[in-house]
Amino acid sequence: MSQARSPADGVAAPVVDAIVVGAGFAGLYMVNRLCGLGMSVQGFEGGSDVGGTWYWNRYPGCRCDVESLEYSYSFDRDLEQEWEWTERYAPQPEILAYARHVADRFDLRRHFRFDTRVKSARWIEDEGLWEVQASGGLVQRARFCIMATGCLSAGRTPHFEGLDLFRGRVLHTSTWPFEGVDFGGQRVAVMGVGSSGVQAIPLIAQHAAQLHVLLRTPNYVVPARNSPLPPEQVQDWKARYPEIRRRALGFKGGLLLDVGPSSASELDAQAREAALEERWRIGGAFSFQSTFNDLQTNVESNRLASDFLRAKIAGIVRNPAWAQWLQPEHLVGTRRLCVGTDYYEAYNRDNVELVNLRQEPLARFTPTGVIVGDREIGLDAMVFATGFDAMTGALSAIEVTGRGGRTLAQHWHEGARAHLGLMPAGFPNLFAITGPGSPSVLSNVLVSIEQHVNWIADCLACLQAAGKQQITAEDDAEQSWMAHVRDLGQATLFADGNSWYLGSNVPGKPRVFLPYSGGVPAYREHCARVAASGYPGFDIR
Ligand code: FAD
Ligand code: NAP
Repeated sequence: MSQARSPADGVAAPVVDAIVVGAGFAGLYMVNRLCGLGMSVQGFEGGSDVGGTWYWNRYPGCRCDVESLEYSYSFDRDLEQEWEWTERYAPQPEILAYARHVADRFDLRRHFRFDTRVKSARWIEDEGLWEVQASGGLVQRARFCIMATGCLSAGRTPHFEGLDLFRGRVLHTSTWPFEGVDFGGQRVAVMGVGSSGVQAIPLIAQHAAQLHVLLRTPNYVVPARNSPLPPEQVQDWKARYPEIRRRALGFKGGLLLDVGPSSASELDAQAREAALEERWRIGGAFSFQSTFNDLQTNVESNRLASDFLRAKIAGIVRNPAWAQWLQPEHLVGTRRLCVGTDYYEAYNRDNVELVNLRQEPLARFTPTGVIVGDREIGLDAMVFATGFDAMTGALSAIEVTGRGGRTLAQHWHEGARAHLGLMPAGFPNLFAITGPGSPSVLSNVLVSIEQHVNWIADCLACLQAAGKQQITAEDDAEQSWMAHVRDLGQATLFADGNSWYLGSNVPGKPRVFLPYSGGVPAYREHCARVAASGYPGFDIR
């Protein structure tokens, strides 16, 4: 394989069949499939190793919220059998170890250039090639360019006056120091109570001298009830994996659900309470959201579940004002439902203070702390758990220029779009794995990654077999796909939430409901039909 070179070498940039950007679960499997097709591949990864999400997010408490047995690749039966998950929700180091194991087992690392960030990708029309420029002055050309850059990989720290003057430590959950952080004896603040903050807060509280949680909008948190995986359950799953995976693909999220048989309205008050109580006891977000068969579509049903959770919060958090502040106003599930361990209990510790930024707005940071309302909180460390520029952030950070010199930024000016969530129109041979307009973050993401990778690999194999060089999504097809995505989104309760699904957490980002909410089965069927019918909506040359 020809290696990426610096133009300073005075040699034309080398050409491979495909460039893959990112060495998370998507990039790893993509490279594996491309090698299987006999294609030459150059991968680029900004981090020093594989793992993506699980390489970068090393904050205390980080773990998956899809159960480990399901949050794993299904493409190789031997891999499935040999890997041992130890907990219901695997911790970050174990998931990272799994990614490393996959890289070793399929000999994938040698295709990647690590510590190398892709800065731009430009389509060269005359040559039918992508030219990618990466850090270190590297240039690489390829016929196909596949962005496996992640849907939650561009962390966001809001701008605050004085933060640059703060003399304490500034951390973000999505780029946690590899050596870990010792909060012993320290005064710490955490901003953000989404899934990351919810996981980190109870553990930081255990170690810090004082923890101040800076709250703007509360989220619902259900208990994880994490535990070691019983060996008999692991054995049972391993014996039935193909059947289990097949069944999971029948559910909207691409993961097994035990959906309650009734609508909340069909049950009397006592039966409703018992059903919700049982789901609270079992733990996990997806179980709770399946308590009633219409919890995610019927406002009344949802309101009952939301009220149940609010009552739980009031029952756990002893400080009545804090208990009030922690109760969300939105409907459960319209923003990502968080999964926690001792999250609400952490607020009963003597060393934890809940600061309500709506009552005491954050004015600025000082060299020694942060000013909220009319007081200064002295701090040794500030932890931002403030989330991501989701679904588009990592891709938008690359200057991508397609046909006719049109950039992806121009194409996405009024909101991100991609035909089938896979290919932006006018960008030949450029694919985005779990891109905007695909189920991605509304599903077991590994299931969606595998489906995208397989679709792309099958498409490239098809082009190869037909002696074709180029595939480009057509404008009309992209437009009608995104209209379909928008219509589906508006018919759900998601559209009511003020969430990162809509891009509303990033100032200036167009409000577009980015993921496909029609569910994994419908989406897979649609993609399969397009492939089987010779790729209508795509221009193949
Ligand atoms: P990533 O894992 O994000 O990998 C993308 C890689 O691309 C990164 O390593 C990044 O460095 C690299 N990259 C990006 N831009 C460039 C560039 N310009 N140049 C070079 N390299 C680049 N999903 C679930 O389904 N279940 C869960 O339980 C779950 N838990 C999560 C927990 C956390 C803390 C987070 C942040 C996300 C979680 N997710 C979960 C979503 C998770 O992101 C996906 O499941 C999955 O890991 C994504 O894999 P990926 O390969 O698509 O992207
Ligand atoms: P997030 O859900 O977007 O939460 C960000 C938090 O930061 C919110 O509480 C937000 O408050 C707060 N925030 C942002 N800007 C702020 C500001 N200027 N002032 C005050 N508060 C501010 O991000 P995340 O927790 O990192 O999670 C993102 C996604 O990653 C999750 O939804 C999930 O898909 C995935 N994830 C999963 C897990 C897991 O359990 N497996 C763990 C971590 C992440 P507002 O709501 O007021 O904006």
